[in-house]
Amino acid sequence: MAFMLPDLPYSYESLEPHIDARTMEIHHKNHHGTYVKNLNAAIEGYPEMEGMEIEHMLMDLKKIPEKIRTAVRNNGGGHFNHTLFWSLMHPGKGGEPSGKFAESMHEHFHSFDDFKASFKKAALGRFGSGWVWLAMNKKHKMSIISTPNQDSPLMDKNHRIIMGLDVWEHAYYLKYQFKRADYVDAWWHVVDWEEVARRYDWFMEHSGVSEIRPRQPRAA
Ligand code: MN
Repeated sequence: MAFMLPDLPYSYESLEPHIDARTMEIHHKNHHGTYVKNLNAAIEGYPEMEGMEIEHMLMDLKKIPEKIRTAVRNNGGGHFNHTLFWSLMHPGKGGEPSGKFAESMHEHFHSFDDFKASFKKAALGRFGSGWVWLAMNKKHKMSIISTPNQDSPLMDKNHRIIMGLDVWEHAYYLKYQFKRADYVDAWWHVVDWEEVARRYDWFMEHSGVSEIRPRQPRAA
C-alpha cells in the first residue's frame, strides 16, 4: 500500500487569474508529487505503518520510528497539507461564508473582514516557508495558527483544521514574486466556503480528533 498523489478536482488553469496554471501544475505535480514519493520511500520497510492513515501518523509523530520521523513529518505533512489545500479551492467560488460556520466566525473574529485581516496578518508574519490555519480546539474555540515548514495544528493533537493556506514561495512566486500580500488577497476569490463549512459542521458533530477528512487515497 503506497500513498498516491490525488487528482485535482479541477483543471490547472481553472483558478486563473487568481492562481496561475503553471504554478498549480508545478505545485501539484512536482511539489506535492515529491512529498508523496519521499513519504512512500521513507515508510518502505516498515510494515507496521502499512495501512495507517496519514493524519494518524502526524498526530502521533513520537510513535514513528526515530529514523524516519523527520521524513514522515516533512513529507507526510506535505502530503496531508496539500491534499487538504486543493480541496479548499474551487473555480468560481469565493464570496462569503454562510450558515453556522459564518455565525461562529463572527463570534470569534467580529466580522468576515476582521477574520480575513487577522488571517492575512498571520500569513505575512510567517517568516520563510509555512502555512496559516483556521483551527478549532476540542471546546470548539477557533483560532488562527501559523506553522513553519509542513507542520500543522494536527501535530499538537488539540486542534482540528478548518482551513489552511500555503504561504511557501512555491505557492505564489511565479505570479506574485515577493508580494505575498497580493497572493493572500487573490486567494479569497477561490476559497470554497461550502467545503470549509462542511469541515466545520463535521467537526461539530464528531468528537475527538482522530477523523480528519479528506481521506487520503492509496494505491491497492
Ligand atoms: Mn506547497
